[in-house]
Parts: sequence; C-alpha cells; structure tokens
Amino acid sequence: MKRVLIAGGAGFIGSHLCDRFLSEGYEVFCVDNLYTGTIDNIKHLEHEKRFHFLEHSILKPLKISCELVLNFACPASPPHYQKDPIFTARTSFEGTLNLLELARENHARFLLASTSEVYGDPEIHPQPETYRGNVNTIGIRSCYDEGKRIAETLTMDYHRFYQLDTKIIRIFNTYGPRMLENDGRVVSNFIVQALKGEPITIYGDGSQTRSFCYISDLVEGIYRMCTKDNFTGPVNLGNPEEYTVADFARLIKELTQSSSEICFYPLPQDDPRKRRPDISLAKKELAWEPTVPVRDGLTKTIAYFQEKLASK
Ligand code: NAD
Ligand code: UDP
Repeated sequence: MKRVLIAGGAGFIGSHLCDRFLSEGYEVFCVDNLYTGTIDNIKHLEHEKRFHFLEHSILKPLKISCELVLNFACPASPPHYQKDPIFTARTSFEGTLNLLELARENHARFLLASTSEVYGDPEIHPQPETYRGNVNTIGIRSCYDEGKRIAETLTMDYHRFYQLDTKIIRIFNTYGPRMLENDGRVVSNFIVQALKGEPITIYGDGSQTRSFCYISDLVEGIYRMCTKDNFTGPVNLGNPEEYTVADFARLIKELTQSSSEICFYPLPQDDPRKRRPDISLAKKELAWEPTVPVRDGLTKTIAYFQEKLASK
C-alpha cells in the first residue's frame, strides 16, 4: 500500500485530497496544526483505518515513512495569512524545507501547492507559467507571495541538487464545500452574506477579475500531477472562466435569490487587477481541464453553506 503525507490535510483543499487518496487505496497521513483547518473537515474519516491525523506544525521537522509528500500547509486567505505574516512566511520557507528533507530521507515524490499569487499583479493576461510575475516584495501580500516564491525555489533546488522527484502546481482561485464561513475569501464571503441577507462587500469598484475553479476539478488535476512521471512543472491549475468581482456578486445574488444590497469598500493594497490562468500546459501534459461550470459549482457550494448555517 502506498503512503501519502498531506500537510494542510485538515484545510479546504487538503481534506478533499485526503478523501481522494483514500479512495485510490493509499494510506493517508494528514498533518495539520489547525491554524485555519478544522477537525470538522476530516471527522468523517475518524473510523477509516488507513487514515491518520497528526496535529503538528510543519515548522518543526517530522519523521514519517511515505512515498509521496504533498505540501498544502499554509493559510491561503488574505485576512488569515496577513494576521501573522511572519508565521505565514516561515511556514512557506521553513515548513517547505522540513517537508523537502522528509521527502529526501524517504526518497519520496514531493509536490508543492504554489499559487497564482507568484504572478503578483500581472502585466500579462492570461498568465502562462513562463511569466515571471510582478510582485511587491514589501507589501502586505508579500508574506504569502514571496513565501510561495521561495518555496518554489527550494523545491527546484532540491530537484537539481539532490535529484529529488519534485512537482510544483500553481493553483488559481478555487472554491467549494469545506471553505470556512469566516474564511474571508470572496466566494465564501459573498455566499454567506447573500444567504444571511447581509450587505455584499465589494472591495474597490468591483472591476478587478478572478477566475474560479470548482474543488473537484482541482483535485483531479492535482491527482494527475501526482501520478505523472518526468514532469516537474510548474503547471497552472485553474478555471479560465473569468468574472469581474461585481458580476460575480450579481451572480451569487441571483443563485441565492438574495435581496442583499451590494456595498463598496476600499480596495486592499496590492490587490491584483486581473487574473486568469493559461492552462495550455496542463492540457498538454496532464490532459486536464475543468469540467464543472461556475454556476453548477456555486450551486453545490451554496447548498453546503445553507446546510452549515441551518445547523447552527
Ligand atoms: P486552508 O487555509 O483551508 O488550508 C491550509 C491548511 O494548512 C489549514 O488546514 C491550516 O491549518 C494548515 N496549516 C497552516 N499553517 C500550517 C503549519 N505551519 N503547519 C501545519 N499546518 C498548517 O487553505 P486552502 O485553500 O485549502 O489552501 C491549501 C493550499 O493551497 C495552501 O498552501 C494555499 O496556498 C494553496 N492555494 C490555495 C488556493 C485556493 O484558491 N484555495 C489558491 C492558490 C494556492
Ligand atoms: N473581495 C471582495 N469582497 C470580499 C472579499 C474579496 O470584493 O468580501 C475581492 C478581493 O479584493 C479580490 C477578489 O475579491 O479582488 C478575490 O479575493 P480573494 O480574497 O477571494 O482572493 P485573492 O485576492 O487572493 O485572489
């Protein structure tokens, strides 16, 4: 039986990966310090014999025997990663280093969950993997952006220096069930606000764009990358369907049949003006592209939050 370590496994994406790797027959070691993750996300796995949860920060080294190491441990929502920016930067730098060492000791394959944020506020649209980005090194987002950039650097240096079998994916905005109600990202904020009849909070004038990928599509892309030989990436994984934030707010109002008003607040510093993945490389190397239309993914996510709010 193959063993996979999923750091950040109690988080939004990580918990869906635990499910997927269990269904593929793996033994799963979920490592998480519960900074933004919750036991709720993995509660359904507590009686699964092939599932093990370890409450542990990747800032400390760890020893587990495994063939595959996935690093998804890092707060990902701006308010959460900005709350303790030094912890965020250390998690990406020191945490990634610890997991690379673990992979090296085990001769394991290593996958880094990087981000579209490495492109910063992009001057090229859509963004291909060859674009080197436009990141402010000293801004409020840089603990996350630069953290991920050094994590990519470490990953490629372990590949070149130690011939470690490494992979890098650059994830674009992904949404779905198990996002936290207070996650702070646009999808969960707008849905929860619309369902509660509270004002929908647009930052800036709402003309900035994002492209939204449903979680099941992302998990499929990640699984294909994990099982693909001789391909380090980096590879973009995301849905190229692009929305302005204002159109997205209107779409969520329509799908929730909400009467919430739409309110405008100041745009946070360094908020990227536009973002859309060029996924040509993922199509070519992984035969992957998203299949869930945004309306369908949102309908499922709205149902999830409806149930969450009703159970309170
Ligand atoms: P999340 O906040 O739900 O998950 C992150 C998990 O990492 C949480 O369970 C948290 O408790 C854990 N964690 C944080 N610091 C840790 C540490 N030092 N030690 C151990 N565990 C730690 O966020 P998510 O959306 O599931 O993101 C998962 C990964 O994917 C992150 O690395 C993020 O940067 C990356 N990513 C996500 C998106 C997205 O749209 N969701 C986009 C780009 C990249
Ligand atoms: N945003 C917004 N209202 C919110 C939360 C976010 O208008 O309540 C905007 C945010 O300023 C950004 C976009 O939505 O332009 C996506 O934000 P999110 O935090 O989801 O992700 P990221 O900025 O990291 O792409």
